[in-house]
Amino acid sequence: MTSFATRPQPNRGPRHSDREPSPRPYQQYVYGYPHKTAYRPLGADRPLLRELWAGEATDALSLYAHIPFCEYRCGFCNLFTRVGAPEELTTRYLDAMARQAEAVRAALGDGPRRFAAAAFGGGTPTFLTAAELERLCDIMETGMGADLRTIPLSVETSPGTATSDRLAVLAARGATRISIGVQSFVDAEARAAVRPQRRAKVETALEAIRAAGIPVLNIDLIYGIDGQTETSWRTSLEAALAWRPEELYLYPLYVRPLTGLGRTGTGSDADWDRQRLRLYAAGRDQLLANGYEQQSMRMFRRLDAPAIGPDDYACQTDGMIGLGCGARSYTSGLHYSFDYAVETREVRGIIDTYTRTTDFTRAAVGRRIDADEARRRHLLQSLLQAQGMDVAAYRDRFGGDPAEHYPAELAEFADRGWLDPNTGPNLLRLTPEGLAWSDAIGPRLFSPAVRAAMAAYEPR
Ligand code: SF4
Repeated sequence: MTSFATRPQPNRGPRHSDREPSPRPYQQYVYGYPHKTAYRPLGADRPLLRELWAGEATDALSLYAHIPFCEYRCGFCNLFTRVGAPEELTTRYLDAMARQAEAVRAALGDGPRRFAAAAFGGGTPTFLTAAELERLCDIMETGMGADLRTIPLSVETSPGTATSDRLAVLAARGATRISIGVQSFVDAEARAAVRPQRRAKVETALEAIRAAGIPVLNIDLIYGIDGQTETSWRTSLEAALAWRPEELYLYPLYVRPLTGLGRTGTGSDADWDRQRLRLYAAGRDQLLANGYEQQSMRMFRRLDAPAIGPDDYACQTDGMIGLGCGARSYTSGLHYSFDYAVETREVRGIIDTYTRTTDFTRAAVGRRIDADEARRRHLLQSLLQAQGMDVAAYRDRFGGDPAEHYPAELAEFADRGWLDPNTGPNLLRLTPEGLAWSDAIGPRLFSPAVRAAMAAYEPR
């Protein structure tokens, strides 16, 4: 068999030059497929979790806890989170999470159950106090039955909340990775991204994280901020590299509906695309030159970093349990969650509803995953990784080649120079150019049904 990128491809429709003349490189970050905006209420006969999980493999589950609270709302963020939660609310939220954990654990039954990885995300999990973080870990351990000290545990934090007392709790409870959203070490850029923070505070937080002795530090940075230049971008990269983080994520800035930047109408145009492509290449090259390897468009890992757990701990495999009102859960046939919103009032309403919920035995909102969606998801998750996709593994799982299932999409990728033609028949891998265009490639692999559902979704 020949690789798709090199074999003759008759009858595959028009070449890319006849299709979309110049695609936009930054269309959508595909970190989970299908996106939550394709989820819908599951109707009056909401499925029982007990039935959804019957027959599912439960020997290597992922566990995810979502804490939907932040100190402030960053201008670029469309995550499900609210600011200024009083202690009374965080307590109610953890109470609800404990009830949910109990219901989910009962639904999983008495069969063999093992968690292979855990993560606390948000929002900002370290918005919780040290005592509340203890309670969160208790819920995961005694409520869900996860042995946090023996599995990879990743926790997201922010410069303002990465305090020694919280980090000490997380280290003691088994955290193996701390991911801090810095975004920029240049104060003016942080302000432009509507993220009020000072570099001095960022450095103090990084010091505290290193002092806590958690093995993996990840730093998130953003490029494409208004006023950012290649020089100022390098300043941020160098400041991050000074901490020798085990991982770095470089995110292109997006302006999304209902976010702070979205409301100010900051433009998205060809110049901005070119700026982001330029800064991406500069960032990638700087990290490669400093002893990092590229894992995906966004992710870079230090070559000598300790190997701890799965690369992408959240949302990437079947068999995920999500606790909290913004978390998703995945079985092989259904992805489900609670309601989703970005706008402040709507988010508050959903959190309040969650904290009042007493019956967590059924899935409320979600999307069914049929054979086509499962194939698309596998292809998306594998192809967007720098190491590419093992075609034999795909064939074993789905009984055919990706080139048979998605000929038009893969032909377009090959035509555009996004697929490496030299990999041989058993590997489908993006070229460096393809990796740079990951956010244009991902959406092209969405099914028509998911596209239609996302297009029909009204942001709120
Ligand atoms: S980017 Fe992080 S800290 Fe900022 S609002 Fe979103 S979740 Fe909160």
